[in-house]
Amino acid sequence: MARIGFVGLGNMGGPMAANLVKAQHSVVGYDLSESAVNAAMQAGARKGANVGEAVKDAEIVVTMLPAGKHVREVYEGSILGAAAKGTLLIDCSTIDVDSARAVAAAAAKAGFDMLDAPVSGGVGGAAAGTLTFMVGGSDGAFARARPILEKMGRNIVHAGPSGNGQAAKICNNMILGVSMIAVCEAFMLAKRLGLDAQKLFDIASTASGQCWSLTNYCPVPGPVPASPANRDYQAGFTAAMMLKDLMLAQDAARSSGATTALGAQAAQLYNLFVNAGRGTQDFSGIIRMIDGK
Ligand code: NAD
Repeated sequence: MARIGFVGLGNMGGPMAANLVKAQHSVVGYDLSESAVNAAMQAGARKGANVGEAVKDAEIVVTMLPAGKHVREVYEGSILGAAAKGTLLIDCSTIDVDSARAVAAAAAKAGFDMLDAPVSGGVGGAAAGTLTFMVGGSDGAFARARPILEKMGRNIVHAGPSGNGQAAKICNNMILGVSMIAVCEAFMLAKRLGLDAQKLFDIASTASGQCWSLTNYCPVPGPVPASPANRDYQAGFTAAMMLKDLMLAQDAARSSGATTALGAQAAQLYNLFVNAGRGTQDFSGIIRMIDGK
């Protein structure tokens, strides 16, 4: 049993903390939202009065916050001053690579091991304990974190030094955003050409066009019964989250001098979709915009 401080008990952090409690760990949680704290307490966590209180006796700190600025604030403003020396720090939020590396460097300077460990798998994966963790940081910190991450996820991958977990996450999601748009355009073109959607699926899913966006998450209703297209594009993975990750990829491309023409185009299209008030829809719902609806 480990003593764990958990900061950020929202849609993802709440169920992740609950899985740590289920695995018999002692969890002290904190969130700005009272309802998030109450839900975590109902799942068996104890309440910290503030971030410092939640982490001061912890052997391991886990954070699950919205964006880089929250992570910087919470670590530089509270955790690095309040946690005991030797505490392992694990940030599971999806944030920009530069912030992840800056906070890890500040943590190292203050004498802490820190990992960036963003996840994929969504709220369903957080509840089921089947998340994928993409982890950046030292071998030693990764080895210490693994048994804890295994209580919240199924695939735990060490991607390299600090920031590489975030790098893996945004590269993966850039593939996903671009490939979803390509699949949507193909179905839209097929419709204009009089080719049945199921026929296109049967052919492309066993031919060279096959990819996850087509075979697991098909954006038209019918071929893949579990895909959000069959429930009016109820998320799933929201378009707003996809836009966030594509913008992080664009930031990283700019700061590293990489040219990502299709990634930039995908970010623009998701930006249009979200600005049209459709950000809470599943990201595969962008097919409607591509289809002129
Ligand atoms: P969320 O908004 O539901 O939760 C974030 C929580 O952080 C909120 O409850 C908020 O009150 C809390 N918070 C913000 N600032 C704080 C502070 N200073 N101190 C304490 N608590 C604070 O968001 P979420 O969906 O749980 O996502 C969390 C992270 O996980 C994001 O970085 C997101 O990109 C990433 N992510 C989300 C999903 C998903 O499907 N929801 C999937 C993969 C990754």
